[in-house]
Amino acid sequence: MSRRLPSGLPRHSWLCPGRVNAAANPSASHPLSRQHPLRRFGSGSPQKSAERQQLLQNGGQRWPSLAVAGAIGLLGFGAGALFAQNRLGREPAGEGEAAIRRRNNHERERSIAYASPSQMLKAAEGIAKSLGPDAVTYEKDVLEHHGHSDWSTSNSPVRAVAVVYPRSTADVSCIARICSQHKVPMVPFGAGSSVEGNFSQPHSGICIDFSYMDKIIAFHPDDMDVVVQPGVNWVDLNSRIAHAGLFAPLDPSPTATIGGMVSTNCSGTNAMRYGTMKDWVLNLTVVLADGTIIKTRRRPRKTSAGYNLTSLFVGAEGTLGIVTEATLKLAPIPQDTSVAVVTFPTIRDAAAAASSLIRSGIQLAALELMDDVQMKVLNEHGSATVRKRKWLEQPTLFLKFSGTTEGIASDVDRVAGIIKPFTTPGMGSADAFHFARSKQEEHDLWAARKEALFTMVSIRPPGTEVWSTDVAVPVSRLAEIIDLSKRECGQLGIFASVIGHVGDGNFHVAMMYDPRDADQKQAVGRCVKNMMHRALDMEGTVSGEHAIGIGKKDCLVDELGEETIGLMRTLKKAVDPGWVMNPGKVFDWADERA
Ligand SMILES: Cc1cc2nc3c(=O)[nH]c(=O)nc-3n(C[C@H](O)[C@H](O)[C@H](O)COP(=O)(O)OP(=O)(O)OC[C@H]3O[C@@H](n4cnc5c(N)ncnc54)[C@H](O)[C@@H]3O)c2cc1C
Repeated sequence: MSRRLPSGLPRHSWLCPGRVNAAANPSASHPLSRQHPLRRFGSGSPQKSAERQQLLQNGGQRWPSLAVAGAIGLLGFGAGALFAQNRLGREPAGEGEAAIRRRNNHERERSIAYASPSQMLKAAEGIAKSLGPDAVTYEKDVLEHHGHSDWSTSNSPVRAVAVVYPRSTADVSCIARICSQHKVPMVPFGAGSSVEGNFSQPHSGICIDFSYMDKIIAFHPDDMDVVVQPGVNWVDLNSRIAHAGLFAPLDPSPTATIGGMVSTNCSGTNAMRYGTMKDWVLNLTVVLADGTIIKTRRRPRKTSAGYNLTSLFVGAEGTLGIVTEATLKLAPIPQDTSVAVVTFPTIRDAAAAASSLIRSGIQLAALELMDDVQMKVLNEHGSATVRKRKWLEQPTLFLKFSGTTEGIASDVDRVAGIIKPFTTPGMGSADAFHFARSKQEEHDLWAARKEALFTMVSIRPPGTEVWSTDVAVPVSRLAEIIDLSKRECGQLGIFASVIGHVGDGNFHVAMMYDPRDADQKQAVGRCVKNMMHRALDMEGTVSGEHAIGIGKKDCLVDELGEETIGLMRTLKKAVDPGWVMNPGKVFDWADERA
């Protein structure tokens, strides 16, 4: 492996989406990561785009009954960058409170004394001495691949000085000790599929890649749990334990790894039935900033022994510690599944029907919404599988049923009754409601949902960008916020589409705009900002599933308030006094003396 040292910190100005030299084959020059070709999604190249599409398809085939539909979640990407420029507070004219706070935080952030680049490189050499030279790389294209995502509009131009590849908890502890001693930021990296700049390195430092920590340590089918290393990919995990009739019911990007999934508290289409990652983690082994190794609790299903430290680390984005092992609860694979699609005259009707279904208590496995714009895109640009049928270009709910075959038949009858009042006048619910009649048709119908994102991104005109939001509201407000948001962005005269995991109150609006057109960009920004305001006014959240990263730090303050963030900051300072664990994410450092 080449030990070429970079002369300075690479900038991403030459790394525009679509001409990412490293991303064309991001891992090619790195023999370690070559074995993990599925690690990253962030390339704008057509070849990579085809690979992504294939990957989603494969995910569905390897797991036909609970097919992967992670693409929808991505539509939350991009909102964060907006908030770097347009935070949510109602700002007075001139330099508002928000702008001052932002500037002060930036100043304080800068006052943290991290190691210089050459000292960081010394720390990396120290790691190479302890773990072996093959455990560290300084290759520029590997650093790029680990520092930038084309899927995210929240990126940092700064890169880590090295990527390190631990193989055990002891290795991670050694890395943490060395980094803490030298004041070097540590940034964990799973598959790099997160979309809010979560794994970017605004303070440089050392990136920790878990490609080699990808083992299932213990599988306890009788206890319905599994102990895994952080680099395990969830699709692989599910295919390896399927023989026991069990699965981990989370479905973010098909590339995602357990460490990243725990750290973003991810979810996906299964969340309506199964909840989010936090509901499936029994315990974690975590390496703290100074190298101390802790286990948050033992393996029983319940405990009331002490603080709930497991939850402290779930969703912490690697800012409190590094997850090196996770024990996950598992769910039984349902005996049977099926899929139905239902069309509605308006988006409000679709959202109102979704709310009624949620409140009915029927245990749907997934409830997903695509608007008329998305349905048109499927008809015109979908894969051959998806274009087997002509879709009605109207707002559509995709419903997944799971359980026993008899239970599903009864659920289908009840669902048809509940949605009837919301379907197209003049059309009986039987016409609006299409139920899969075979396993093949079930696969084909759900494929439309899975492909939505990639189809949309593939038709994006050159030079345009997608800006989207990821908000969630209490379900009683879902119809109202979707209706208002769709109407507002529909008035912009650009491609704007609503899609979402509406079963748990989470939806996304994606807009394609020309970043060189200042007026258009501003209008899109205003639209997104209004949507965030609405979500917060309705007691919702500005991040349903993609966490905060660098993009939504200011929104988090709007959502939770300075006092709550203050407590988070106190907790972080207690476990990471040097502020070296993934700094610059979730919230900024602030000196209490300031
Ligand atoms: C096509 C596509 C579809 C998606 N769909 C969904 C969806 O439906 N639902 C959803 O929730 N998300 C979705 N996502 C987002 C993404 O897949 C999730 O955020 C996922 O959980 C990230 O996992 P990862 O392994 O890629 O983590 P990374 O992106 O590598 O890292 C994520 C964060 O976790 C930290 N981290 C990584 N490993 C560790 C560790 N061992 N210890 C501590 N911290 C660690 C990183 O520093 C970073 O802050 C989608 C993304 C794409 C590209």
